Amino acid sequence: MNNIYSLCGSCENKVLLGNKGANLVTMTKLGFPVPPGFVISIDAYEQYKKTGDLPDGEIEHFIAYLEGEVGQRLGDGLEVSVRSTAPISMPGMMDTLLNVRNINHIKAAVRQVFDSWDSPRANEYRKVNNIPSDLGTAAIVQAMVFGNKDSNSGTGVTFTRNPSTGEKGLFGEYLAQAQGEEIVSGARTPEPVATLQSRMPDVYAELERATSRLEAYYRDMQDVEFTIESGKLYILQTRSGKRSGQAAVKIAVDMVNENVITPQEALLRVTHKDLQALLHRQIKSPEQYEAITTGLNAAPGAASGRVVFDILEAVSLHEKNIPVILVRPETSPDDIQGIVASDGILTEKGGLTSHAAIVTRAMGKPCICGAADIAINLEAEQFEVKGQVVDKGAEITIDGTTGKVYLGMLPLEEVTLTEDAQRLIGWADGFKHLGVMANADTPEMIARAIRFGAEGIGLCRTERMFNEPERLAVVRDFILAEKSAQKKKAMEQLREFQQEGFVALFKELQGAPIVIRLLDMPLHEFLPSRRATRKTRVRERIADLEEVNPMLGHRGIRLAVTHPEIYKMQIEAVKQAMAEVEADVSIMIPQVITSQEVLLVKSWLKDTGIKLGIMIETVRACLRAGKLAYLVDFFSFGTNDLTQAVYSFSREDAEKKFLTTYLEAGILKDNPFQVIDVKGVGRLMETAIFWARRAKRDIKISVCGEQAGEARSIRFFNGIGVDNVSCSPFRIQAAKLVAAQAAIKTKSNAEREGLTKTLLD
Ligand code: ADP
Ligand code: MG
Ligand code: MG
Repeated sequence: MNNIYSLCGSCENKVLLGNKGANLVTMTKLGFPVPPGFVISIDAYEQYKKTGDLPDGEIEHFIAYLEGEVGQRLGDGLEVSVRSTAPISMPGMMDTLLNVRNINHIKAAVRQVFDSWDSPRANEYRKVNNIPSDLGTAAIVQAMVFGNKDSNSGTGVTFTRNPSTGEKGLFGEYLAQAQGEEIVSGARTPEPVATLQSRMPDVYAELERATSRLEAYYRDMQDVEFTIESGKLYILQTRSGKRSGQAAVKIAVDMVNENVITPQEALLRVTHKDLQALLHRQIKSPEQYEAITTGLNAAPGAASGRVVFDILEAVSLHEKNIPVILVRPETSPDDIQGIVASDGILTEKGGLTSHAAIVTRAMGKPCICGAADIAINLEAEQFEVKGQVVDKGAEITIDGTTGKVYLGMLPLEEVTLTEDAQRLIGWADGFKHLGVMANADTPEMIARAIRFGAEGIGLCRTERMFNEPERLAVVRDFILAEKSAQKKKAMEQLREFQQEGFVALFKELQGAPIVIRLLDMPLHEFLPSRRATRKTRVRERIADLEEVNPMLGHRGIRLAVTHPEIYKMQIEAVKQAMAEVEADVSIMIPQVITSQEVLLVKSWLKDTGIKLGIMIETVRACLRAGKLAYLVDFFSFGTNDLTQAVYSFSREDAEKKFLTTYLEAGILKDNPFQVIDVKGVGRLMETAIFWARRAKRDIKISVCGEQAGEARSIRFFNGIGVDNVSCSPFRIQAAKLVAAQAAIKTKSNAEREGLTKTLLD
């Protein structure tokens, strides 16, 4: 007989008894007031699934035992509940039956509970929460206590700390003269649990004592279900309570202060999502509103404002302090001013790497791209979505975290990093090995990155310095100049701009190092579209520069091989800026394939004392890593381009045309542009790191692609010996947390292995 376990027994195994069942056994053992009962185990469930049979004899035996325990017969005073209990709690997803009075109903109820494991809502919940569908459930049969017995009875649910703020103290609901499901069903409105304090002060005090003992035992915030029968308290369930990101951080830090858990445990209890959720503005209770459409969630955070289609209008409204949502078919470098002036961006076209997406993400500005359902009519200054017309000036709210668009100015919640969160990050700094740097290319972004705790700027792109409106004209002059004197003049002007730009950047560093990447963009992208100009000569020049496949074309170091003056000018500007403001500067070359290219740039850097690194973003650079390592101080994997190269995918086309289908069909598990592809790209990185370190032991290895801010990817990078990740300033704290978690877990694994080893010795 081992299908059934008594609640006053010693088996506390969650895999057999489920979470609720195991916790009831523990509470009984610790002397909490738990009504007696027994658990029909998951073994029995599996048997039932196979054969359709329940362990009838055993059930009858245990019912008899329960009757003895209570001193009443089933149906004649004794009533029982039949409750679901799975290894991972799935609140409210499965069936529970109350007031069962007859043994044959006992059994039908057990079947119903077992069957409810496969109910549609339980399946849906498991899918959403990534719970394996083969775990199965057990069933608890427990003597009923009656919360509806008299005026001194009732039922309630309470958390030991506030699950949305984390504040300590009972937080929950109570319903007088009622049974449990009446709260859940919403049939009657409960009152705050605190009202019990005046109604039944003794019971309330006991509830406080019991719940704080439970919290101390489980060393975590608990969610407790209780019933009071004629003034006597019964505990019916306890589990670790679900909580918001804010509460997760506060509770973890408070429990360290209370000496309940260690800082390491605190770090393992908070997820990067909890931290991330603290950082962006969000819609207050978004479930109350219905979205008019959903696009790609290109840059997180929520914003509301007036719909504007025109760049200059966005600027002028912004000057009047009127919030603006810029709505465009797509954006281009010419729109920068408008983007800067807007609170959020909504585009009809473009993917997650479109201009709008990249620019806004870097600025920390909410953005939704590729909202294909909106049809924009620029002339009429309106867009139409599912038959509804939204005019210029209408108020909308976009949520870049979810990709949802709403009508009206929805209430938003402001976010600042709490003191608790900062303490947590401080602990993370102490445990992690991985350096966490930021990608940033404006003084504002650098300042923010440093404020958010970046240990340096791992990628400062210089494209933006060419893109600002006044400068763009000079860049165009340079590209279009026919005489070398004209070219030289434009180049000199550009150097001045860049020097000024670098000085402004260096001033924000506060001693942190910066890696400046030389120009990577094809020249062609700086020019207006061919149709936008009437001048024949310009049109010809644009046609000259046009490439069939610009991303695989004349860009990065290849541009410098044919036009050395551009990189020379950039290096000169850096040098002069360093003379003005002291800074720890490295220069990085994009798109390298061979050491000959590196030698060329090295010769231009001679005697500057500037450190040199290369982006590892072509397959050939990975395979030549040993040779390349000799020449430079550091590598930085550009995992966006490297992924494109390894897959032979163009990201834009892939995300627009077929990647979604690949993901939906399960052909690919994750989008490799978001989560590093460990088996392909990751394998190549490991190979490159191996050869690089063989050539140069202390070469610094960084990763600066989008994956460098993603949790699973960071864990992988940590494991293959990467020294630094460089990510968006908004992902710094979460990246630090993940890096610390990886270090703590590796350490405890190593300790465990060390222990086994000593035992074996
Ligand atoms: P869920 O997992 O959906 O929370 P439970 O098994 O906890 O389902 O049951 C829901 C509610 O039913 C409990 O919170 C409690 O109020 C009531 N209940 C369950 N068992 C008993 C019992 N033995 N006596 C009184 N009420 C019970
Ligand atoms: Mg429950
Ligand atoms: Mg690149």
